[in-house]
Amino acid sequence: MKLTQDLHIHTNLSSCAMRDTTAKDYIPAAKTDGLTTLGFSNHLWDSDVAGASKWYSPQNLEHVLQLKKELPQSGMIDGVRVLFGCETEFTYEWKLCLTEEHMALFDYILAPHSHTHQGIVVPQDRVADLRDHAQYLMDSFLALVRHPLAHRITSIAHPFVPGTKYAIYNATQALIPDSYFREAFCEANEKGIAIEMNGSCITYLPEEEIPNCEYVRVYSIAKECGCKFTYGSDSHDHRGSRKIKLVERFLDQCGITEADFRLL
Ligand SMILES: [Zn+2]
Ligand SMILES: [Zn+2]
Repeated sequence: MKLTQDLHIHTNLSSCAMRDTTAKDYIPAAKTDGLTTLGFSNHLWDSDVAGASKWYSPQNLEHVLQLKKELPQSGMIDGVRVLFGCETEFTYEWKLCLTEEHMALFDYILAPHSHTHQGIVVPQDRVADLRDHAQYLMDSFLALVRHPLAHRITSIAHPFVPGTKYAIYNATQALIPDSYFREAFCEANEKGIAIEMNGSCITYLPEEEIPNCEYVRVYSIAKECGCKFTYGSDSHDHRGSRKIKLVERFLDQCGITEADFRLL
C-alpha cells in the first residue's frame, strides 16, 4: 500500500495550527513521503450557520477563503498538486456548519462527527463516561450520514475518534459492536461518502500497539462494507512527524489497498 494523497492538512488559518505554517511549507515533506497531492482543510464554521462558538466565529468562510487566493492558479506548487478543501463541523443538534451554496467553493469537504472535546459540538456531560461517549459517536455518525446534504460530503474525518482523549480511544471503540459498524459503514458507502484514514489517530499509539488496536477492527469492517477511503495526516505543523509508513502498514493489515481509495 502506497499513499499518494494527503487531504487533511491545516495551515496557520486554523487557530490550533502553528502560527508560521503555510501551505507551501508542507511541500518538501510531501515529496519525501512520495505524496503527489496535498489538500488543505482548515477548520470552518460558515457564518451563515448560526451558533458558532467564540473559537469558531473567526474561522468563517471569508477567513478560510484567504488560502484559495494564496494557492497558485495552476494548482501546483513545486510539482505537487494542491487542493482547496475544508474541515467543517457537525453538532449534537445534527447541524452541519456549511451551507449548500458555499460547498461549491471547495474542491472537497471533510466533515467530522467526533470533535467531542468541544462543548459547542456536544455538551460535555453527554460524553462524560465511556458508554455515553461511545453512544454519542454511534448516533452522530449515522446522523451525519443521514443529513440531507450528506451526499455533498467527500469524507468523514477521523470517524469514531473520541475527541482528543487518546487514552480512551481503544476502550471507547471497544464498546461499539461489529453489527453497528457494518450498518453505519454500509450506509456511508451507499451515500458515496468516503471514510478518512486519519494518520494522527493511529500514529499517536506506540508502534507495537498498532497491530492490536481497535482501529484494525473498525477499518477492516469498513473495507468489508466496500467503503472508499481518503487519507489525512491531520497535520497542524509542517515540522511535525508524519510516520506515513506506519499508516501504510496499518492499511496493509486491514486489507485496504490503493484500489479502495477515493482519489481526488
Ligand atoms: Zn478534526
Ligand atoms: Zn483536522
